[in-house]
Amino acid sequence: MASKFQAPRGTFDILPGPARPRRRLERAAVEVFGRAGYEPIATPVFEDTDLFERGVGKSTDIVRKEMFTFEDKGGRSLTLRPEGTASVCRAYLEHGMQKLAQPVKLHYLGPFFRHERPQAGRYRQFHQLGVECIGTDSPLADAEVIMLLADLLAELGVPGVELRLGSLGSFEARRAYLEDLKAHLHAHEGELSKDVRERIDINPLRAFDSDDEGTRGVMASAPTIVEQLEGEDAEHFAEVRALLDATGVGYTIDPTLVRGLDYYTRTIFSFVCDRLGAQSEIGGGGRYDGLIEQLGGQPTPAVGFAAGIERILLALDEEVAEEGRDAFIAVAGPEQRQRATALAAELRHAGISAELDLAGRSFKSQLKHANRIGARRVLILEADGSAQLRDMETGEQRPADPGNLVEEMTGGEA
Ligand code: AMP
Repeated sequence: MASKFQAPRGTFDILPGPARPRRRLERAAVEVFGRAGYEPIATPVFEDTDLFERGVGKSTDIVRKEMFTFEDKGGRSLTLRPEGTASVCRAYLEHGMQKLAQPVKLHYLGPFFRHERPQAGRYRQFHQLGVECIGTDSPLADAEVIMLLADLLAELGVPGVELRLGSLGSFEARRAYLEDLKAHLHAHEGELSKDVRERIDINPLRAFDSDDEGTRGVMASAPTIVEQLEGEDAEHFAEVRALLDATGVGYTIDPTLVRGLDYYTRTIFSFVCDRLGAQSEIGGGGRYDGLIEQLGGQPTPAVGFAAGIERILLALDEEVAEEGRDAFIAVAGPEQRQRATALAAELRHAGISAELDLAGRSFKSQLKHANRIGARRVLILEADGSAQLRDMETGEQRPADPGNLVEEMTGGEA
């Protein structure tokens, strides 16, 4: 009978089958990021609400509408983390990482929470993996983090991926540009959607993201920041592009690219996948040179990205075959159970995956079960103390030395 309880709206259980491709992805990420010297970091799943208001930005959709905020028993306002960068920067400052050799290169992986309308690829609890490279404004760092995500997606074999690249310029350049953009939007107010019109002065960049037809028409003739980049901003962007060209990472320049977080400066990028439908972004990020100062630290340039684990899995849409077991220990009778338990422990300590019957099955059903779980070999403990080793693929069976069963398993084939 179905339980009256269900996982909350927008959340899901990760069951053993789907957990396998997920584990492969997580391992690949740790491997790819680790090879480039990025160290793991984990931060709490909730933080002071103020951290996200300051870090992500009060005008963003995330802070305005999507945070799971609650008061704890001490009356503090806490929020389930909607993204990872603000928390990593908080940890960087809290633990004095500015005193370490710079840049500090970190990667993370875990659950994040946004109160969004659930649909395929969009959940209220989802998982991200991300990297942050903190303490350098070099375009080499921008190119490196972009390459890390490109490498990971290539290593996993995610099909149909495209990299879009843009630049927002420095804060000053962006401020001047935003005035131009607002003027353009005000000049066409009548053609804009209500939502965009109401936020012209709060967050005009979001107008580029709108699905509304009138708004899209207005945006087609809007000034873009990429065409207005000057001086060091233009040089920085040119260098990032040259580095990507040199390493063969393909991209398209998207002058309308915007991201849903306020903290970005200069480089921004987005990896999209044509297999994903409406929620086509697999991951994205950029440079956030002002964030650490915003959180109370010294000015500290940084760059990073976050990618959605569920989106990558959806794009891969793969079944990873069951892993199977090295061994199953079958007992001819109940009096062999103790021996079987001790032997299972010994095999596992020796690094061999081994299971035994925990459900009181008959000998015949133990063999059936061994087959079902994909055991490659079955060790049969006979009532007289002898043992047999059966190869489940060939069906061949031979006597095994009962005093050396671990060696029998680690040594030659059955
Ligand atoms: P963001 O932190 O908004 O830049 O998002 C980075 C990545 O996280 C996106 O490209 C998505 O792959 C993923 N993501 C963001 N929000 C959600 C969500 N509600 N459900 C699933 N994945 C998400």
